[in-house]
Amino acid sequence: MNPPVPLASLLERAASAPGVLSASELSRLVSLRDPEDRAALRSAAYAVKVRVSGKRVFLRGLLEIGNICAKNCLYCGLRRDNSAVHRYAIPEGDVVRMACAVHAAGYGSVVMQSGEVESEENTARIERIVREVRAATSPDFAIVLSLGEQSPGVYARWREAGADRYLLRIECANPALYRSIHPADHSWERRRDCLRILRELGYQLGTGVMFGLPGETPADLAADIRFFHEIGADMIGMGPFVPNPETPMGGEPFAPAAALELALNMVAVTRLSLHDCNIAATTALQVLAPDGRERALLAGASVMMPNATDKVYRPDYQLYKGKPCLDETSEQCRACLSARVARIGEQIAWRDPGTPPHYLSRTQGP
Ligand code: SAH
Ligand code: SF4
Repeated sequence: MNPPVPLASLLERAASAPGVLSASELSRLVSLRDPEDRAALRSAAYAVKVRVSGKRVFLRGLLEIGNICAKNCLYCGLRRDNSAVHRYAIPEGDVVRMACAVHAAGYGSVVMQSGEVESEENTARIERIVREVRAATSPDFAIVLSLGEQSPGVYARWREAGADRYLLRIECANPALYRSIHPADHSWERRRDCLRILRELGYQLGTGVMFGLPGETPADLAADIRFFHEIGADMIGMGPFVPNPETPMGGEPFAPAAALELALNMVAVTRLSLHDCNIAATTALQVLAPDGRERALLAGASVMMPNATDKVYRPDYQLYKGKPCLDETSEQCRACLSARVARIGEQIAWRDPGTPPHYLSRTQGP
């Protein structure tokens, strides 16, 4: 057998062009354990991030607009069968008010997220909300939806109403692994098809995965990153699986320190592999370590998603337990983020939607 390629030359090759790493190279990189190797990986990824979008961090205000969900994902606190949850749907006018407050606070985009509801009533409600927010904010303010799997017609109506982006994690690229964390009637293929349709409809496409799932291998993680390429994702949001005791997967083992290292490796390898997409330093990383999100930024992430939902709703939106910032107002959140970002030598790109270069080049040419 040939000796493995030195890590430095592998990183150099990865940084030279997107998509050049093989599945086994991706597996090797996500599995790096030696602290020096990990540091080399993360700084190579950070250099690519700086080349692509500068030392800037884009903000998306997150609105958790409802927690009613028709699905029963085995890991999620909002699953239909969790009767411990008090269910809510924020009234339309309040959602519009909160989205306008996100715009007024200088965030470049707003994400409206909820459990999955497929009904004409919900479709029309979202349509009205999107239209109102579109009309009340500047044209470059990005409206992002994360409302689960829907029919092509519904996605088209929301796009028509003015939504720019859609986030739908595939959760894991391996269909067998997906089946092991969902009930039998949840379909990996439908989720993938939703992503394809969203892309065809002209949305900026966000997807992502959870990692640290029971039975997951480095080859599965490599497949996740290859999936991001194949589906043509513009934005990636990834996070550790955090067991929630109110769910069937609540008893799975969880080691926060190991989960953080894996998260940072995944962010770095994704950046080295995709180059010009946006990658979120997700809130779940802050559960693992107080500076988890900053470390993700230094490993190649470019976006933060502060919670901008009215405080009264936050305790009822717990996908996993230990969610940070349950008590903070948006104003406190804003000040805290600016300080955190400045400490690592980056700047918040106020009022900039941070449209992913990947989207611009696929829609406008290089
Ligand atoms: N219902 C929509 C959006 C809300 S769920 C959807 O499913 O797309 C948003 C994300 O939360 C999911 O995609 C999943 O990746 C994440 N999530 C749910 N439960 C989690 C857990 N226990 N640990 C970590 N992430 C979780
Ligand atoms: Fe519902 Fe999304 Fe949670 Fe699945 S992950 S139960 S679809 S909120």
